Amino acid sequence: MRINFNVPPFTGREFDYMREAVENEKICGDGPFTRKCSEWIEEKTGTAKCLLTTSCTHATELAALLADIGEGDEVILPSYTFVSTADAFVLRGATAVFVDIRPDTMNIDEKLIEDAVTERTRVIAPVHYAGVGCEMDTIMDIAKRHNLMVVEDAAQGIMASYKGRPLGTIGDFGCFSFHETKNFSMGEGGALLIRDAAYIEKAEIYREKGTDRSKYYRGQVDKYRWQEYGSSYLPSDMNAAYLYAQLELADEITGARMDRWNEYWEMLTPLAQEGRIELPHIPQECTHNAHMFYIKTKDMEERSRLIDFLKKKEILSVFHYVPLHSAPAGLKYGRFHGEDRYTTKESERLLRLPLFYKLTAEQTEYIADQVKAFYRQ
Ligand SMILES: *Cc1c(COP(=O)(O)O)cnc(C)c1O
Repeated sequence: MRINFNVPPFTGREFDYMREAVENEKICGDGPFTRKCSEWIEEKTGTAKCLLTTSCTHATELAALLADIGEGDEVILPSYTFVSTADAFVLRGATAVFVDIRPDTMNIDEKLIEDAVTERTRVIAPVHYAGVGCEMDTIMDIAKRHNLMVVEDAAQGIMASYKGRPLGTIGDFGCFSFHETKNFSMGEGGALLIRDAAYIEKAEIYREKGTDRSKYYRGQVDKYRWQEYGSSYLPSDMNAAYLYAQLELADEITGARMDRWNEYWEMLTPLAQEGRIELPHIPQECTHNAHMFYIKTKDMEERSRLIDFLKKKEILSVFHYVPLHSAPAGLKYGRFHGEDRYTTKESERLLRLPLFYKLTAEQTEYIADQVKAFYRQ
């Protein structure tokens, strides 16, 4: 039984909807399926506006444009994240200021943020790792007192919440990813969530090559013109059709993932109780979305041996991220504020186990058994 690390989500309805998109003779951006997806997300999260984008990276770029980030500005973010969180701001000329993470959730340590604020700081970009919310009350309070904007990297956070508030809707802007590795996918894609309606018009213009074509499509202007700088951030309606099939079954997909997550948790708890591994921590105020199941080994060496052991059993497990502050671009465009107590150390011992929509209970049990076998050998 060979088990891949990830299998992109597929429900069966995708082909029907993609065929419909083609038959609509509307395969460019902002067609009927794009509208359906945006409205679904708006209804589900309560955000003022959702704009579907070509990726979460591009949603974050839009947020950086809306925050008017420029040369010399600083953005505070964790070093333990995917490159996009930093890229979107660095592309506008900003410096990435990395802050250490909390070892329990792998999220930015909210208690260390305020000390990293300077007169150049413009944005805090928390990352909700594994769909587990950052300590948003503290982060929003710091932002308010220092007049900063908050851009949530909620790439992994759809269907998850903090104190009952959907991730991605708490800060000024929130960014979802629909990459094939995420809970819901359109191959490549994402969404920008806009909390305050005042930013909608500008966001639509940046997303449509700097034009007011969105207004034109709604019949609000009789011709569209070049209004501002911008780029092309809208996905094809065929991709949106693929995504819509999954949003319709969002509860079922999340439920299946949650079942597998809970099975891992139960079966691996004995190893955690013996102190052999550590399991993820979900704070009381967070509802997660079973985006990821990870364990922590003793150290990097043990992790490498476990990966090899699982590979021999045809189970593919992976780790990420190489901390950004130690990467070539991180050295060039960023700096670490304070001490790296946990970022490097914890990233070296985290291992992700397979978790995807069609993973079965039997496969999950087999994987957990093999992890146990490794520690019992
Ligand atoms: C997946 C991911 C991204 C990037 O998403 P894309 O849609 O591929 O651009 C950004 N940040 C985090 C934390 C991610 O997991």
